[in-house]
Amino acid sequence: MEDCIFCKIINREIPSDTVYEDENILAFRDINPQAPIHIVVIPKKHMTSVLEADKETIGTIFEAINKIAKQEKIDEKGFRVITNCGENAGQTVKHLHFHILAGSKLNEKIC
Ligand code: AMP
Ligand code: ZN
Repeated sequence: MEDCIFCKIINREIPSDTVYEDENILAFRDINPQAPIHIVVIPKKHMTSVLEADKETIGTIFEAINKIAKQEKIDEKGFRVITNCGENAGQTVKHLHFHILAGSKLNEKIC
């Protein structure tokens, strides 16, 4: 989608520090990390938030999160998955994304 920063990352118009990619999913390091490991996981298909997400997309994203957790070796110590939806949640990028936060003991309130 035009003017969507995450679509531009998918199209390689904006560089990113990619950690995982497959046919449907891209994951990259957050530019403004809120934890020692902070990865953003997105579907390649543009949708604004969970409000537009279908079952298959959500399943595919969580399969990728599972792989990324093992790849980044955060599966044993643990990690947090967050998605912000809409104004009150502070969603700044209107392309569905899930934050993976890990690498230290996380505060109760983060992101
Ligand atoms: P949210 O506040 O849930 O919409 O999260 C959007 C996230 O995208 C924020 O954590 C930003 O730091 C991150 N972000 C924005 N632009 C980029 C970029 N070009 N590369 C990596 N992460 C980005
Ligand atoms: Zn997009």
